[in-house]
Amino acid sequence: MSGDSRDRSHEFDRLNAEFERLDAADIVRWAVSAFDPDVAVSSSFGADSAVMLHLCTQVKPDILVVAVDTGFLFPETIAFRAELTRRLGLNLRVYRPTIEREAFLEEYGKLWRSNPDACCAMNKREPFERAKRELQLRCWMTGIRREQSFTRREAKIVLRDYDGLVKVCPIATWRARDVHEYMKKHDLPYHPLRDSGFLSIGCQPEEGYCTTRVKPGEDPRSGRWAGFDKTECGLHKFESGGGI
Ligand code: SF4
Repeated sequence: MSGDSRDRSHEFDRLNAEFERLDAADIVRWAVSAFDPDVAVSSSFGADSAVMLHLCTQVKPDILVVAVDTGFLFPETIAFRAELTRRLGLNLRVYRPTIEREAFLEEYGKLWRSNPDACCAMNKREPFERAKRELQLRCWMTGIRREQSFTRREAKIVLRDYDGLVKVCPIATWRARDVHEYMKKHDLPYHPLRDSGFLSIGCQPEEGYCTTRVKPGEDPRSGRWAGFDKTECGLHKFESGGGI
């Protein structure tokens, strides 16, 4: 490790120590003041996505919101995306795969059954990597929380991501009850499928694949890619120790 990168890693250590004690809104304020206008928040428009979108738009109403539409989302997610966009006045950019759904199905079939990593790489990761490049981002914020899964348990609040961007997770320390209280305080809606047991919501290309219901007491993300040794779509990479 060069002296330069060691210095920067110490800088991230210092920020993380400070951010563990800060309010999420103050962390968002730091990211916006440090990187505006090259900062965005990503959103899956999942179970409790309204929290991050509200936090970020309170700090910067026209902050870029980046979403990936794989072509295999629940219709309820598309409707929820439209509802939150209208309600919060989001500056939303939706990125889609280069290959459309029907052409994908013709060429690869039900790839999520045989090779979900490859399916996510084409339908999720590529559009998101393209978004970061085209929007010339230097920083992106995301609503991942440590409580959501074993792999996220040690997620850092701020880190230099694998592609050189600064990644900020302002609500990494939040528990489900913090989310719930924030939702209640600001009268924000959960995703409509959350009440039927979908606690983490991504694609559902067919019943029983990629997103399934979670049993009481299980990790919220245990319903993602059930039956596969896969817990992330690839947008979030976690090294042992939980970050970079
Ligand atoms: S979540 Fe499933 S359908 Fe969506 S991109 Fe990944 S493997 Fe494909």
